Amino acid sequence: MKILVADDSKTMRELLTESLIKFGHDVIVATNGLDALEKFKIDRPDLIILDVIMHGMDGFECAEKIRAYDENDWVPIIFLSGAVDDENIARGINAGGDDYLTKPFSEVTLSAKIKAMQRIVDMRQKLYATTKKLRVLSTIDHLTGINNRLQLEKMIKHKMKRAKKKNHLLALLFIDLDNFKSINDHLGHHIGDLLLKEIANRLKSTIRANDFIARIGGDEFAIILGKIKDIETAGEIAKKILNILTVPFSLDGNDVIITSSIGIATYPFADTELTSLIQSADIAMYHAKASGRNNFQYYTEELHKKHKKMSYLDSSLKFAIERKELFLAYQPIFDLTDRTLVGMETLLRWKHPELGLISPDLFIHIAEENGMIEALGWWVLRTVGEHVKQWDFSSFKEFKLSINISSRQLLHKNLPLLIKNILFDTKLPANALELELTETILMSHTDISENVLKEIHSLGVSISIDDFGTGYSSLVLLKRLPIRALKIDKSFINDVTSNINDAIIVNSVISLGKNLGLTVIAEGIESEEQLNFLVTNGCLRGQGYYLSRPLSFEQMTIFLENISKRVT
Ligand code: C2E
Ligand code: MG
Ligand code: MG
Repeated sequence: MKILVADDSKTMRELLTESLIKFGHDVIVATNGLDALEKFKIDRPDLIILDVIMHGMDGFECAEKIRAYDENDWVPIIFLSGAVDDENIARGINAGGDDYLTKPFSEVTLSAKIKAMQRIVDMRQKLYATTKKLRVLSTIDHLTGINNRLQLEKMIKHKMKRAKKKNHLLALLFIDLDNFKSINDHLGHHIGDLLLKEIANRLKSTIRANDFIARIGGDEFAIILGKIKDIETAGEIAKKILNILTVPFSLDGNDVIITSSIGIATYPFADTELTSLIQSADIAMYHAKASGRNNFQYYTEELHKKHKKMSYLDSSLKFAIERKELFLAYQPIFDLTDRTLVGMETLLRWKHPELGLISPDLFIHIAEENGMIEALGWWVLRTVGEHVKQWDFSSFKEFKLSINISSRQLLHKNLPLLIKNILFDTKLPANALELELTETILMSHTDISENVLKEIHSLGVSISIDDFGTGYSSLVLLKRLPIRALKIDKSFINDVTSNINDAIIVNSVISLGKNLGLTVIAEGIESEEQLNFLVTNGCLRGQGYYLSRPLSFEQMTIFLENISKRVT
């Protein structure tokens, strides 16, 4: 042990030193309290022997100062004193002492007391080693052995401070793997884990010594680029990473191909006052995902504004139902040959108190992300029910009222029951109701959706595929599922008379529908030319601004009454 001996008597110091050296310890001597305190701070002994009565600073005061200096580190202290009475013992313990040795001391007692203290010292050292190990472990990601999120956050703070002081440019790359979940699902978690480890290795090999790398979530990694010349450099490194990750991995005999999306936030350019650098890079990464994946994007002022608007919409959407900001519009669907009404599509509308009408293309997406979509979907079904009770479709033959259904609703096992209740409640014949589902929904949960769809079909309700042509459909599934109609997406109708490719696509969908015995409905007809093209090529149903814009409940009521008057 390294033992500090403090006594103002030279004889005493020498006696103690001689014995301690004999026992095999190293000794540091101090000639008074102040000297002892200084030597404690510099030499960090394992044990201290303090004379109680010394000039200037006595032993008690010195012990108190030592304890105050480092509260977390308990170095044992033995007081050395001539007279040891009760009061002295109490003072010594209160000052932070652990034991007493009376003067003159016997070597036997000294040796015994030192041994007792040795036990404390050993324990202290073990504790110190464990804490150190824990500190390291808590900063490391166990799977890949690189730093974890905690360490990244610490490092960012530290590097930001330095960058500010030295006027450096700093960049944070947020890397997220594309479709990592499907690798776990198809090849198993073992291969998923191996892939993450290999990715960590590849990333490590791309960066420089003073860059910093961490794994911050399941399939998310982050890199801090220490000192970069300009913002473009960060982009070049991101490009390098994208490339290096697309080289196939060979994992336990499996060839695995993966791409990634990267968001870049730079300091001091990104708005670090409002959002942290990690959050900004994360937002940029989402933008990269939305821009088709396998690419990188910078965090920009524009992105920041968009993000702010989205989170504002996100939070206000949660109150839209109770604040009665939602309403429904209905767009008529016609027989294109004689312009008679054959159905209508229910469209959800949101009138935001400050921002006005928000497009469902925007808020349906938000609702799907934040989980509100189910509540919105049920609200639509209930409200349609209320409206239908006030309408009479009996004079129309083969009339279909259609409702858009989101994937979350389809996955809900209560959907068939809810529809049954609505039919019962409204007396609407089951064959007058149609559910619109997009290709993506149908193809992504085939097993669940097939059962639900069959159950709904058995009620007599029909099903159509919305936005047909924008996703991927399996022809096998198209044949197997109980589908009545295909709706050609309006993006194809848009240029059908001027773009030969669109014309070919529209014609193929029409003949596909005919061959499979499905009704084909065109969306977004805006002109007479488009209408004529469709009729000439055999598409018999359609909707669009040229025929009628979506109508409010009141307008639709009048519209239906007028038709009924004409018919009767
Ligand atoms: P969608 O189901 O394909 O609906 C057709 C969209 O085309 C509607 O847009 C409609 O107003 C618009 N439209 C109709 N005719 C024309 C035209 O001639 N020209 C143009 N440019 N557009 C036309 P809207 O109402 O903005 O709805 C957008 C999308 O939001 C819908 O596309 C649908 O996917 C979704 N959506 C709307 N209501 C609901 C709902 O209640 N539930 C769910 N899950 N999604 C909904
Ligand atoms: Mg639709
Ligand atoms: Mg559509």
